[in-house]
Amino acid sequence: MRSKVYFYKNLDELKSGTNKFIEMISKELGEDNIGLKIHFGEGNNDTHIDPELLKDVTKYFNNPKFVECNVLYKGTRTRKSDHIETAKKHGFGFLEIDILDGELGEEAVEVPINTPNTKFAKLGKGLEKYGKLIALTHFKGHGMSGFGGAIKNVGMGLGSRGGKLDMHSSLSPQVNRQTCIACKVCIENCPADAIKLVENKAGVNQDKCIGCAMCIAVCPTGAISSVPHESKRLMEKVVEYTLAATKNKEWWYINFLTNITYLCDCKGGKQKPFMKDIGILMSKDPVAIDKASIDLVIKYNEGNEPFENKHGVEGSYILDYAEELGLGTQDYELIEIE
Ligand code: SF4
Ligand code: SF4
Repeated sequence: MRSKVYFYKNLDELKSGTNKFIEMISKELGEDNIGLKIHFGEGNNDTHIDPELLKDVTKYFNNPKFVECNVLYKGTRTRKSDHIETAKKHGFGFLEIDILDGELGEEAVEVPINTPNTKFAKLGKGLEKYGKLIALTHFKGHGMSGFGGAIKNVGMGLGSRGGKLDMHSSLSPQVNRQTCIACKVCIENCPADAIKLVENKAGVNQDKCIGCAMCIAVCPTGAISSVPHESKRLMEKVVEYTLAATKNKEWWYINFLTNITYLCDCKGGKQKPFMKDIGILMSKDPVAIDKASIDLVIKYNEGNEPFENKHGVEGSYILDYAEELGLGTQDYELIEIE
């Protein structure tokens, strides 16, 4: 059966479009005990979802909460206390912020799913409190998965520290010494201090590496890569974690196709969007909404898929695998709303 994906494209009235979607969802979910899964952006990132678009959410829900888990790497969202501080600095302090996996990502619940790579998904423990959730996702590029959409936001985002380690353990970046120009950009951007110059070429300490793929994304010469099967394995695990996070819960998804950048919001500091804004999508199906999102990016980018060349990763694999595991369908109907 085709899934419905709703599309709002009046860029001058994005807040009104967001409110329309939230109102539609509130009629399905009711008003109470709603978790809003969001990514607040790493320190000084300013291309994350604009918090102003979400300010009316309390008109539709009673005491909704932003929910999120800590990240693996050293940064402004590694500890719960810093994470909340960063969220507030980025303008999200108007709602309660519930970091689900404790101060350092140590509080986990194991959800049995019995999928090819994951028997038990280790999710942020606090997720147990929520039965009804909305994934608010900034759709953009991603070094590990080509692009990052709703599936990535939920699956990777809700992993506890142990869960994120499980997913990232699939990646071990390799440096091509022929094309490395020793510019040190990877060293400056590695959140785990896992890279140093060895005989004037970058070298990765695999014991320290947490598999975040930031080095792959930022290298100007494409000298760092992962082997394709590693990226695929990581995408499979993200899908499996999404299955676990959505199990026995009611989820809706809103994707913001605004400030579309090559890299994800985990990259601290400023990034420049490479194309014009497109609008906002809403669906009950995470696969359909991500498929519609990448289709629209291609359409508005003169027919070109922008992320595959940039990151050397075939992002569509995550959709194929998610469909195979029954998370949703890529067969969707796009419904424009005014
Ligand atoms: S960013 Fe790329 S070119 Fe620069 S030092 Fe690292 S691997 Fe070498
Ligand atoms: S993937 Fe690259 S940037 Fe990330 S921790 Fe490993 S070496 Fe550092």
